[in-house]
Amino acid sequence: MKHNEELYDVIVVGLGASGLFALANIDKSKRALGIEAKRKVGLKLGITGGGRCNITNVKNLKNYADNYTHPSFVRPIINAFNPNKTMEYFESRGFHLMKEGDRILPKTENAKDVIKFFLNQIKDKGHQIHLEEEIIDFKVADDYVIVNSKASSYQCKKIIIATGGATYHNTGSNGKLVKKCFDISPYQPALSSMHINEDYFKTLHGVSLNVKIKYDKKTFEDNLLFAGTMLTGYSVMNLSNYIKPGESFIIDFAPHINREDVKTKVKEAIKSTPKRLFKTVCIDILSLPESFVKVLIDKLDLDTTKLADLKSKDLNKFIELLKNMALSVKSKLPLEKAICSLGGVKTSDIDNKTMALKADSRICVIGEALEPVGACGGYNLQFAWSTAFVCIFEH
Ligand SMILES: Cc1cc2nc3c(=O)[nH]c(=O)nc-3n(C[C@H](O)[C@H](O)[C@H](O)COP(=O)(O)OP(=O)(O)OC[C@H]3O[C@@H](n4cnc5c(N)ncnc54)[C@H](O)[C@@H]3O)c2cc1C
Repeated sequence: MKHNEELYDVIVVGLGASGLFALANIDKSKRALGIEAKRKVGLKLGITGGGRCNITNVKNLKNYADNYTHPSFVRPIINAFNPNKTMEYFESRGFHLMKEGDRILPKTENAKDVIKFFLNQIKDKGHQIHLEEEIIDFKVADDYVIVNSKASSYQCKKIIIATGGATYHNTGSNGKLVKKCFDISPYQPALSSMHINEDYFKTLHGVSLNVKIKYDKKTFEDNLLFAGTMLTGYSVMNLSNYIKPGESFIIDFAPHINREDVKTKVKEAIKSTPKRLFKTVCIDILSLPESFVKVLIDKLDLDTTKLADLKSKDLNKFIELLKNMALSVKSKLPLEKAICSLGGVKTSDIDNKTMALKADSRICVIGEALEPVGACGGYNLQFAWSTAFVCIFEH
């Protein structure tokens, strides 16, 4: 093994979203080195948002930390560098952004441009990068930290662990270093599609609705996509950050209309068009896909029921299925296939004013290597930027 005599001020391990931001913002006067296991930096960053990269999300800025697990740990970190500051950071350095709904993307709609943007800043600062070098462990000596790869050993005053989570291993994030060097909370799939135990929707493929899901004290209102017995879409993926297999949740398939309005409209139809089929009236009233409404109708055996023959108890049962169906989680995707991982270095071990270990201020951890996970659509990159910012600037 080659021993480097040089003493670095900072070594950043992992050059994904958080590591690139950190290295790009270390002052010129410091000797800084970034070490990346893969042949290229930012492989996961390059595939974010389907290659377009949701840099951040500006929905619900007031209670932003509620979009994350561990909100009390996350809150001061986001407050130090919030989505507005993120946008200002990119724009003020000539990297232009665009808004699509609540999501903020590069104006070029190309995630690879975000990588180039950071690499240019790192080059301007004169910091070094070593590629294809996996760090296998680090140890704290009296005055410095010793950082080891298979080929080399380095010394630094401060180490920043930015090795990411444990999903999409081909992008380099495998959780190995963090598992070896920290007492972590176990990795679990997050932002994952989920299989449900009930088979009511097994015939629905590619049907999409806007739904409201309730679980514990949390509500997730967003799109839902049926893929047979698997449910996906932002609502379900956000739910997956909290719920465990075996647990149940409540789903409202028609948050745009309340129970009383459904009842009133059906009763009006009974008076005006008693010979119409209940199912066709439901499709009209609810503006929901026919194939979905048919699943509820079939479940209650009301396929050929005319309005004139509709019993009040059956109307109530239909509304209950529509607005208050209980479903239970069979399984999430395997960890490797989930968008993010929940778990990693424990929040209780980290000082959220510096991102350093409470036990040793020379060791910092940022980004997805940490326990929390955020919602879909820009929140996890925002966490990568904010944790890197706090680590570099807030002291
Ligand atoms: C398909 C997909 C789409 C996504 N889209 C979005 C989106 O649009 N918006 C959003 O906010 N989030 C999105 N995410 C989540 C987001 O990409 C991650 O949360 C974010 O990249 C985490 O940044 P990070 O720096 O912590 O880790 P990463 O970006 O994973 O970077 C970690 C880096 O560390 C390197 N590394 C690991 N171990 C070692 C080691 N031992 N030695 C040296 N180097 C090492 C890895 O090779 C990697 O380059 C998406 C994720 C996926 C999988």
